[in-house]
Amino acid sequence: MNSYFWIFIISTIHSNTGYLFPKTQYRIGGAFSDVFHQAAFQVVIQQINEMNWNESFELVPDSYNVSCYNILDTRRAVCTLLNRGVVGIFGPSSPYTSNYIQSICDNKEIPQIETHYDSKVDRNKCVVNLHPHPNEIIEFFVHLVKSYNWNSIIILFEDNESLKRIAPVLELNIEYGVQLIFRELDKDSSGSFREVLSNIKNMPEYNILLECSMDILEEVLRQAQQVGIMNEYYNYIITNLDLATINLEPYQYGGTNITGIRLFDHEDSKVMEMQKRILDMLKLTENQNNHEKLRISTALLIDGINMFNEVLKELVKSPGGIQVQSLGCEDTESWKYGYTIANQIKGREYYGLTRKIEFNFEGFRRNFKLDLIELTNKGVLKVGQWDSSKKVLVAMRPYVPPLEETEIEYTIFNKTFKILIVLTAPYAMLKKTTAQLIGNDRFEGFCIDVIQELSALLGFNYTFIVQEDGKNGNFNRSTHQWDGVIRQIIIGNADLGITDLTITSERENAVDFTMPFMNLGISILYKKPEPMPPSLFMFLSPFSTGVWLMLGVAYILVSIAIFIMGRLSPSEWNNPFPCLEDPDYFVNQFTIKNSLWFTIGGLLQQGSELAPISISTRTASGFWWFFVLIIVSSYTANLAAFLTVETLVTPFKNIDELATQSEIKYGAKIQGATESFFRVSNYMKEHPNEMTNENEEGIRRVECENYAFLMESTTIEYVIERHCSLAQVGGLLDDKGYGIAMKKDSFYRNELSTAVIKLQETGILTKLKIKWWKEKTEGGTCSAKSEISEAEALDLKNVGGVFLVLFVGAILAFFGSFIEMLATIYQRTKTLSGTFVHEIKEELNFFIQFKRNIKEVNSNEHNDN
Ligand code: GLU
Repeated sequence: MNSYFWIFIISTIHSNTGYLFPKTQYRIGGAFSDVFHQAAFQVVIQQINEMNWNESFELVPDSYNVSCYNILDTRRAVCTLLNRGVVGIFGPSSPYTSNYIQSICDNKEIPQIETHYDSKVDRNKCVVNLHPHPNEIIEFFVHLVKSYNWNSIIILFEDNESLKRIAPVLELNIEYGVQLIFRELDKDSSGSFREVLSNIKNMPEYNILLECSMDILEEVLRQAQQVGIMNEYYNYIITNLDLATINLEPYQYGGTNITGIRLFDHEDSKVMEMQKRILDMLKLTENQNNHEKLRISTALLIDGINMFNEVLKELVKSPGGIQVQSLGCEDTESWKYGYTIANQIKGREYYGLTRKIEFNFEGFRRNFKLDLIELTNKGVLKVGQWDSSKKVLVAMRPYVPPLEETEIEYTIFNKTFKILIVLTAPYAMLKKTTAQLIGNDRFEGFCIDVIQELSALLGFNYTFIVQEDGKNGNFNRSTHQWDGVIRQIIIGNADLGITDLTITSERENAVDFTMPFMNLGISILYKKPEPMPPSLFMFLSPFSTGVWLMLGVAYILVSIAIFIMGRLSPSEWNNPFPCLEDPDYFVNQFTIKNSLWFTIGGLLQQGSELAPISISTRTASGFWWFFVLIIVSSYTANLAAFLTVETLVTPFKNIDELATQSEIKYGAKIQGATESFFRVSNYMKEHPNEMTNENEEGIRRVECENYAFLMESTTIEYVIERHCSLAQVGGLLDDKGYGIAMKKDSFYRNELSTAVIKLQETGILTKLKIKWWKEKTEGGTCSAKSEISEAEALDLKNVGGVFLVLFVGAILAFFGSFIEMLATIYQRTKTLSGTFVHEIKEELNFFIQFKRNIKEVNSNEHNDN
């Protein structure tokens, strides 16, 4: 009965007063500039005291409202707290005053718990900061930019402090070559950020890393939307850990890619409950509250107080417990428990609202996890998690329900485009009519028709606008700005740009292009070639020098061959006196002189009184005459061509010849793709006067001056159809195409490209080209005359075959003459006393006596010929 009684008494006292004996009071100091921190401080300590009903101590909150920027004010509050005897101080949350307070607390050895961003790389001994170090957070952003494969990024920062925080992004440039463009969020004369944001709009960059405080974040986003850099083309990474606490709904449907991070889930039940208690304490309703969600500094404060309580609970149970002491800011005394408490906190693991909290040896928070969040049309969603210890990002793309049709449309059908054109013939021109035209009707030309065809295929609407300065787009390396059509596309003044807009790698970095709708290359526009003046030796032109030389050599060789064959062939040795039956000697008609005469007679188609008798000489003559027949026919035919066709000559035949002479000046259209092509050569830079503002100016100079104009082949084709004194000289120097430009990552690019290819496949583009080049606007004026035909000297490539036939024929004939000689000697040896070999020797001995043209007749020899 006794024990039951005591149990009853103790439990009754517990439930009413909480603790049987008087509790030790531990004063906890706070120096805050934010009412939410004040309220959270009160709420959490109250909650802890309720939970500590069975502990021997209770916490007494003692907090001051201090200014963010007033160090003296903050010092006064902290000194008062020290004087009252505190076991720890929370705050201040301002980086401006915190350094000073840290040194006081370190000096007095009073634990100080902070929750704000602190870029310092060392921590004071008594200070515990629950906020992850900026370097660790920026490391994640570096990883993120790398994984997005961005080549360049605009770093938009608020002030020196924020620039310091994001300093580690420089690694992106140093190690990975990412181009970083820093822009400070300076306020303009009207106190807004619109000026700097508009400048960004003029740049060909779409990736932005925004580092600013919560004070201005919402305003910056709002103004970014106003100036037009909050749309589907832009990608934002927002470094502020409180991004998820602001209202992002206005940007949710614009297609902007907004990515950020958070340290905890604001929808978590414990977080929401805590937020509700704080609002209750402040007697604020949801509507009055501008902190819709719990911010990170408040959540960290709550976690810090809870951790502090855990440490106190342990230390009060240790031998000797903890004695509170009043300290003066001016005296030299310090509190002996301070380091112990601070070290205990740093050595502890705790699971709070901001998930697992632990510190490394130096007092920096470690092993924390950051949620990667993304703004989708369904609101902010977690899409990944960064583990700071392993340095890995685990992507977890959530299921985003498909868009309802009314929400946002990613289809080109029925979309209305503003299409920028440049008035360059024949791509786009003003219609020449006396009628008053308005709107799209005012224009005509190849590009106008292409757009009409594309619109018929894809079902989009369009309005043409004109690029007044006529510039296609050039990148200014000193201002980092584009001009012309490209700039208008970048800044969103036009959706599409179409003209003779060459696709270049530099432009491709700034905008997107469709597949080329026309292919071309750079060539030279110059005056039409002049007819060659008549020449005395025109008759030599049909053959190249090589052929003439070969012809001479063939003549000599064939003459010698006939001479040799004549001597070898017995049939060529004849009775000089036909009346004598048995002559004393025979003669041979093919002396060397006669052979030369016989061959030249054949070559000039005159013949001679000589007639070959033996098979071999006849074979050789036959092949020679065949050769002569072909050569003479070719000569005659080509001579006719030389006489009838005017041979035209240009002072240069290609760009190399043009570049090596100095008499003819040359240039290209300024700030165009052609000029860019020649950027590496100094000529264009050194001769600015030779550059023209317009193609027309170049054409006029070619006509009136000794000037060659480098131009794109398509435009040259158009010009020479209409300016009959001009012609294209040489081939194409490169190979490129014209494309339709649009903003980077436009969703309609693929559809447009496919449609362009379709127009190509169906021959519509070819038809349009014929229409605008050959038919319309005085097309075809010069086409008949512009056919330049040229006669060319025949060289060995053309007539080599016939030389070969002659060679083969000569070899055959040689064989024939040997066989003939051997057969005759064989016949003779049957009737004569000598042997076959002896007779051959005799014959060859005679043969090599070339001067002897008379052959004695043996007594028994009988010549049948
Ligand atoms: N098609 C060129 C461009 O897009 C202009 C003409 C030229 O440079 O020859 O810049």
